Amino acid sequence: MLELRPTCEHCNKPLPPDSLEARICTFECTFCATCVTEVIGNVCPNCGGGFVPRPIRPSNNWKGDNYLGKYPASTTVKHRPVAAAVHEAFSASIRKLPPDKR
Ligand SMILES: [Zn+2]
Ligand SMILES: [Zn+2]
Repeated sequence: MLELRPTCEHCNKPLPPDSLEARICTFECTFCATCVTEVIGNVCPNCGGGFVPRPIRPSNNWKGDNYLGKYPASTTVKHRPVAAAVHEAFSASIRKLPPDKR
């Protein structure tokens, strides 16, 4: 189950569970759509993978308590801003590959 982390790891913008801007990598490193495009170039600074939109957990109990009320979003902020020069060096070769070839 996803943690649904509360903010962008780079800019710390709030990303509530119903945000359409939240993007995650396979380890659930969480960034806003703007930072994925403009800051990290769709290369996760932690694992090198790509990003996809984070699914939205239903806020209504449609079935079997599988909803946000029973499984709330994480409130633990992971604010680890990316250093531009460091990320440039890390991602230079990786970003030439599409995520499914990394
Ligand atoms: Zn951001
Ligand atoms: Zn990652």
